[in-house]
Amino acid sequence: MYIGVHVSIAGSLLDALDRAKALKCNALQIFSRNPRQWRQLEIKDAEAKEFGEKRRKYNIERVVVHIPYLINLASPYKVLYKKSITAYIEDLKEADKLGAEFLVTHMGSHAKTSELAGIDRFSSALNTIFNDTKGIKTRLLLENTSGSGSWLGYKFVHHRMIYNRVKQPERLGVCLDTAHAFTAGYDLKTEVGFNSMINEIDELIGIDSVKVVHFNDSKKDFSSHIDQHENIGKGKIGMSALQRVIKHPKLKNATFILETPKVNKDDDEANLTITRKMAK
Ligand SMILES: [Zn+2]
Repeated sequence: MYIGVHVSIAGSLLDALDRAKALKCNALQIFSRNPRQWRQLEIKDAEAKEFGEKRRKYNIERVVVHIPYLINLASPYKVLYKKSITAYIEDLKEADKLGAEFLVTHMGSHAKTSELAGIDRFSSALNTIFNDTKGIKTRLLLENTSGSGSWLGYKFVHHRMIYNRVKQPERLGVCLDTAHAFTAGYDLKTEVGFNSMINEIDELIGIDSVKVVHFNDSKKDFSSHIDQHENIGKGKIGMSALQRVIKHPKLKNATFILETPKVNKDDDEANLTITRKMAK
């Protein structure tokens, strides 16, 4: 199984690999850029090469890159929309240069226009982006959200609508965030609720398209539409429900990434230990 954690890129990208190795991970997630800045990483060829070598040496089998929230491909504001398209093209190229398997993205905010208009803008932007990044292997994964404000992607029919509008849907996949699904109104806490979500994804997009699971407990209640992650087993989803997710036979090839709070120094280690035990 591929189990890892979101690690910081402070210092350098190579430091991120060291952080993952220290935690004995065979997968990791990093941000494509500082979450509060537009400036890109600009990975040099030598650095990308070193990253690849070190990653193989450390047996990091899955590298997931995450696009920060600031970037919004569903935006009705022309300047932000154009800037976001440029940023995606850069990030997709850089993720590919690093040899990352997946680039995870939120589906943007329609900013009080309409969901349909947001989905249309998002999809048309993706067509531009894919057209500009032909031959790139890194797959773009659409992450579900908790459904706060005007954010798209709190139900999987939004993913389906994007798949329908994109000319190269084979370059897409799904990132399933457990905390987001739970707060969006998928009752993962019960077996019935979990199975019905899995069936919904399967019917709409195909369960095989779930390439990454953001494995998080939730600080907030079911259907609260508030996105706040909690340590594994300590939140409103809880241990047995999360175990059902990680033990699901149809998710066994997915990469499980923890985005749990990092308050104490050993939080990552504690969460990873519990997760690995659950997965056994
Ligand atoms: Zn997530």
